[in-house]
Amino acid sequence: MSKKLDQILVIDLEATCWEGKPPEGMRSEIIEIGLCPLELHTGRRLEKRSLLVRPIASTISPFCTQLTTLTQADVDAGIPFTMACEILRKEYLTRDRVWASFGDYDRTMFQEQCKLTGVTYPFGPRHLNVKTLFALSRGLPAEIGMAGALEMLELPLEGTHHRGHDDAWNIAGILNHLIAGLRGRMPNLGTPNAQLGNDE
Ligand code: AMP
Ligand code: MG
Repeated sequence: MSKKLDQILVIDLEATCWEGKPPEGMRSEIIEIGLCPLELHTGRRLEKRSLLVRPIASTISPFCTQLTTLTQADVDAGIPFTMACEILRKEYLTRDRVWASFGDYDRTMFQEQCKLTGVTYPFGPRHLNVKTLFALSRGLPAEIGMAGALEMLELPLEGTHHRGHDDAWNIAGILNHLIAGLRGRMPNLGTPNAQLGNDE
């Protein structure tokens, strides 16, 4: 299969969580896969979609509902994790596309849950960490959160923070900004002689 660079699929996961450690016998599991495909030649965010996933080894705590707004009833109506991964592969061609998330949490969570449940990892090897890219692009001494990055870019935080589809949408906005910046500098790469004496 060819490697597709037409879009970057931005993913943001929500998972079962507690104020401290999980209760005895439970583990943190993916309950929402939020996604937003960013079309590269237009910079358009094509869609904002939430795939709710039914947990099998944990329940929604009051803390988790407070953070994400998701209730037990919401995730009970969700789809199995394996089905969500199939949607990613079939509808979003995730094995052939670059995908992105804010930080490395989403990638490691996906890998761990796939390993634990025997579900095939739906992505290819190309993942972009927007949190790291943002800090590097701004010369920050450390990485910052999504809300802080939006504020620095003077972009609005749209929707509900800590809902997967809204977070994915906002992260795609940050990524779009970063890519536009990179492209603005691209012509310099092709004309090194013109740059002599200009670059420090
Ligand atoms: P986020 O993408 O920032 O909404 O966070 C993704 C997931 O990380 C959440 O669904 C929680 O499982 C976990 N998480 C985020 N913030 C916290 C927190 N303050 N305490 C415990 N878990 C958290
Ligand atoms: Mg989130």
